Amino acid sequence: MKKINWYPPIILGLLALLVITFGTLVASRASLGPAQQFTEVGGQETFEWKLVTTWPKNFPGLGSAPERFAKKVAEMSGGRLKIQVYGAGELVPAMGVFGAVSEGAAQMGHGAAYYWKGKLPAAQFFTAVPFGLNAQEMNGWLHHGGGLELWQEIYEPFNLIPMAGGSTGVQMAGWFNKEINSVEDLRGLKMRIPGLGGEVLNRAGGTAVTIPGGELYTALQTGVIDATEWVGPYNDLAFGFHQIAQYYYYPGWHEPGSILEFIVNKSAFEKLPDDLRAIVRAAARDANQDMLDEYTARNNRALKELVDQHGVQLKRLPDEVLSHLKQINTQLLEETAAEDPQFARIYKAFREFEAQVIPYHRISEEAYYETRSLERDH
Ligand code: CA
Repeated sequence: MKKINWYPPIILGLLALLVITFGTLVASRASLGPAQQFTEVGGQETFEWKLVTTWPKNFPGLGSAPERFAKKVAEMSGGRLKIQVYGAGELVPAMGVFGAVSEGAAQMGHGAAYYWKGKLPAAQFFTAVPFGLNAQEMNGWLHHGGGLELWQEIYEPFNLIPMAGGSTGVQMAGWFNKEINSVEDLRGLKMRIPGLGGEVLNRAGGTAVTIPGGELYTALQTGVIDATEWVGPYNDLAFGFHQIAQYYYYPGWHEPGSILEFIVNKSAFEKLPDDLRAIVRAAARDANQDMLDEYTARNNRALKELVDQHGVQLKRLPDEVLSHLKQINTQLLEETAAEDPQFARIYKAFREFEAQVIPYHRISEEAYYETRSLERDH
């Protein structure tokens, strides 16, 4: 029986089919508008999410991160995931964000983990630890040092997935109407200062209060508080604190590299296909780094304006005061860790990362800053 060579006809047939298919695709793409192309690409499911924030709508700096994030997600997903951003009080009050996203009333939130210290003391490690890691180091710990995994673990019981949502860099110590010349001057000081820094102030004899950003100006103006910290020159200038406070103190010992957060309802996240999940994560990373870049570019110009045009008195906290606060902070961390096993576990991991990164940064970042300053002095 003669063997038939049947390969060439099959290959030719397949090639012909390929040419026809490709030609049809090109022809249909050329004739279709963007909306039709979108349908052609997937016929895929689209999602509409709500994102609630602890900031007033379109708040400078901090509030631009969720807006930027939502826009990126819409662009990257070709409109398959649309996220509507709501300012504080539009759907839920600022301090109701965690609960709303946990319960699924909104799919996402933007704020800061230390706002939730009342229900979750260990959450404070994921915003800022006084005298702790700076922005660069926090990002390193979270994304390549095991920090994010710990953060996810402590939010898991609340059906929440956390992601870094912005870095402010080193903040300012805050706005004061009286000078701080010694530790005695901290006694009786009523100051808006959240997180662990607030606890440190309490132990130093002051009274820390947590007030959402949108209510701060009035609180300071009416004397409900004597002092407030917020972020840094760029944000603080927009707020107008220079109109109601005389002294602007540095450095921001209490928030050396604060990280903001996105929180995602876990059930909602799991309903997304893999590519949209990757887009959410990538857009959050983008917003996180972009905030730091924005502050780096704008803080210095804003400070110059505050001092040169508005006559703000820039002051450094005395070493004696900083050293006292640092001692109190160490005691506070140790004592809280002794009472709260979860806090202790995160504290241990945080300290292990610090023990690795700080010695190296002494001979790299810090040594370079010193070298650069020497150059300038000559
Ligand atoms: Ca702050």
